[in-house]
Amino acid sequence: MYDLIIIGGGPAGLTAAIYAIRKRLNMLLVSRDLGGKTQWRLALPWIEEYQVINGLELVNKFKSELEYLDFARHMEAVEKVERDGENFIVRTRGGGELKARAVIVASGSKQVTMKVPGEKEFMMKGLCYSALSYAPLFPERTTVVIGDQELALRSAAELSTIAQKVYLVAPGASLPESALTQKLQTSPNVEILMNRQVVEVKGDQFARSILLKAPDGGVQELSADAFFVEMALKPNSQFVEGLVELDEQGRIKVDCANRTNVPGVFAAGDVTSGFAEQVLIAIGEGAKAALSAYEYLLPRL
Ligand SMILES: Cc1cc2nc3c(=O)[nH]c(=O)nc-3n(C[C@H](O)[C@H](O)[C@H](O)COP(=O)(O)OP(=O)(O)OC[C@H]3O[C@@H](n4cnc5c(N)ncnc54)[C@H](O)[C@@H]3O)c2cc1C
Repeated sequence: MYDLIIIGGGPAGLTAAIYAIRKRLNMLLVSRDLGGKTQWRLALPWIEEYQVINGLELVNKFKSELEYLDFARHMEAVEKVERDGENFIVRTRGGGELKARAVIVASGSKQVTMKVPGEKEFMMKGLCYSALSYAPLFPERTTVVIGDQELALRSAAELSTIAQKVYLVAPGASLPESALTQKLQTSPNVEILMNRQVVEVKGDQFARSILLKAPDGGVQELSADAFFVEMALKPNSQFVEGLVELDEQGRIKVDCANRTNVPGVFAAGDVTSGFAEQVLIAIGEGAKAALSAYEYLLPRL
């Protein structure tokens, strides 16, 4: 029986793990990988590493510590977390059953992709999924945002304050009625293309254009300096469905100490309903979740 199992090896999970090790908890980090989404970094000829806030030094430091401590990690996907009296059972894909007094869920989220030719090839080479992280790097540039929901609207709105030109490519026939939609409709440097399906991403070393299909079947080529796919973020929370409370988007609801509604279950990072998906936020939330779990465990140690 572990004191604590941490699910996820991204910035939130790695930070929680290092805190738990420092607190001398008998803990195990269970993850598909170490590093999580920090392995994805947008490359473009004019982007220098120092211009992006990504907390990489700290994440890499924690990652190498975990790589060294092989007793503290188990590299496998989690299928289900269940209650076992006051404790919890973590079931892994290979049929393993791990027991713990407390659990931290730090399994992040997955961006919805377009699944079109060229998307994989140019992923992070001019084609990206996080305008929140990179929008400030596009002054005087032409950018494209793909999507028609809240995430796309806020991405296009942020880019419209910086970039020379922003195209919003909306797959659907309408946009939600909101202040952001109104801003986009009235911004002189924003062009909204409704009802367009992206059918291909084209480029050389980097993505240079996308092919768009209109409802009448006509295909148009749209060139830009960068393309942001902002369709949706899906939290990796399926394995705690029915155990803890989720919000309408499937994110785990947590309080300001990263507690879920179930005593002994904590959550941190992109999988939660917390504000903004950023590495530094995930690091902070991971630290908080570990300290919060420690407070919970202290009377039981
Ligand atoms: C393309 C892109 C670029 C970005 N660039 C930046 C940037 O420059 N700066 C910045 O601050 N933020 C950036 N972000 C956002 C940032 O990456 C995230 O906010 C951050 O990684 C969230 O950390 P996390 O630990 O919550 O989740 P993640 O980093 O997503 O890690 C989740 C971990 O959980 C594991 N996992 C998932 N499901 C399971 C399961 N069932 N069983 C076991 N393990 C599981 C995964 O393998 C992974 O290790 C970017 C995001 C994207 C998509």
